Amino acid sequence: MLNSVLICGAGPAGLALANDLALAGIDVVLIEKSEERSLAEPVFDGREIALTHKSTAILRRLGAWERLAADAVHPLTRAKVYNGHSPLALAFTPDANKGGQLGSMVSNCDIRRALFDCAAARSNIKLMAGVSVDHVISTPTEGRITLGNGQTLSGPLVVAADSRFSTLRSQLGIAARMHRLRKSMLVGRVRLDKDHCGIATEWFDHGQTLALLPLAPGVASAVVTLPDGQAAALADMDRRALGTELTRRFHRRFGAMEMLTPLHRYPLTTSYAGRFAVARAALVGDAAVGMHPVTAHGFNLGLSGTARLAGLLRRAGDLGEASLLKRYEIGHRVATWPLYAATNAIVGLYTDERMTGRIARHMGIRAAHVTPARRMISRLLMQAA
Ligand SMILES: Cc1cc2nc3c(=O)[nH]c(=O)nc-3n(C[C@H](O)[C@H](O)[C@H](O)COP(=O)(O)OP(=O)(O)OC[C@H]3O[C@@H](n4cnc5c(N)ncnc54)[C@H](O)[C@@H]3O)c2cc1C
Repeated sequence: MLNSVLICGAGPAGLALANDLALAGIDVVLIEKSEERSLAEPVFDGREIALTHKSTAILRRLGAWERLAADAVHPLTRAKVYNGHSPLALAFTPDANKGGQLGSMVSNCDIRRALFDCAAARSNIKLMAGVSVDHVISTPTEGRITLGNGQTLSGPLVVAADSRFSTLRSQLGIAARMHRLRKSMLVGRVRLDKDHCGIATEWFDHGQTLALLPLAPGVASAVVTLPDGQAAALADMDRRALGTELTRRFHRRFGAMEMLTPLHRYPLTTSYAGRFAVARAALVGDAAVGMHPVTAHGFNLGLSGTARLAGLLRRAGDLGEASLLKRYEIGHRVATWPLYAATNAIVGLYTDERMTGRIARHMGIRAAHVTPARRMISRLLMQAA
């Protein structure tokens, strides 16, 4: 048996945990089914991640932040949420002590590249890329995995970081609430005629949800959520026609829009695991909590969870000790459940096309203008866990 933590999946959560443990002097074996090249040079996948100040601090501590190019980080100064065609917006502004920013926008591929570069430079992370973890079992004394090449590895702790569709989670006997929404989120970069001024804007429109996330001056990420069939048809349009179509859907609020990248389509499924840990095994990232992307918190919560787990393991004599995993489980549940439930409630309310739903939304935005309510929502949405 190795004295290493076995992390299955080198997405952003698996990479963040590997770096955090390695920083604490803990040996890690990181197994990823994709080839090493796709980790070292991840391609643009349309996702622009809104990072909270807390996430930025964690990435800085891991050494990943300084590996991001200066022009890869964009300030998020304010956010506004609109209901249908109503001019009334729910506005979010930064706390005075947060440097005038709500957070920062960074492309998912840049985050992954920076985390991979850090991991590659740490001698106590052994990367096994291009091989899948086919099976996991955990006992009170060890976690054991079998790889696609037939090799077996065992250690004091196995961590599943293999996405919201985690197969290792079910092999560990952990059930998850999975909710397929039959909608897809389309994301791609656009050039704007009128600048975004660093403001993220979201419209819960009738039959569609739109968002515009600020990147470089005059450049933004356009986000459109539609029923699956309509989303597939939109993603198939050629770039010029797509620019015209997005300009129409966004009601020319930013003038004409020109597509700079294709639209990437993400069918929406949310998930929440029934447990985050069992004997000698833990879940992190989306394998634990698969958020709806509308409140932009999946990776932020994933990162707070990996930092929590690493903080507990740093002080542990036995890396898979049951009481320690219990503390991780409780801490991560308290940190994630309110935001997961609130996000799903917001999605339910804002996509309810019935007249009662529209009225409830309007009332909700009015009520949320009352300062204590707005402050509470801001805290919930902007300072994840
Ligand atoms: C459109 C969109 C916008 C988003 N915007 C935001 C945002 O603004 N802010 C935010 O915080 N979050 C956002 N998110 C969420 C964020 O992208 C995810 O939470 C994050 O990518 C999850 O990382 P992960 O490492 O847990 O999982 P994944 O990124 O899914 O990585 C899982 C990894 O495990 C590997 N793997 C799977 N199975 C195996 C196996 N059996 N063996 C070996 N390897 C395996 C996979 O190849 C993959 O590399 C957004 C998501 C979407 C879709």
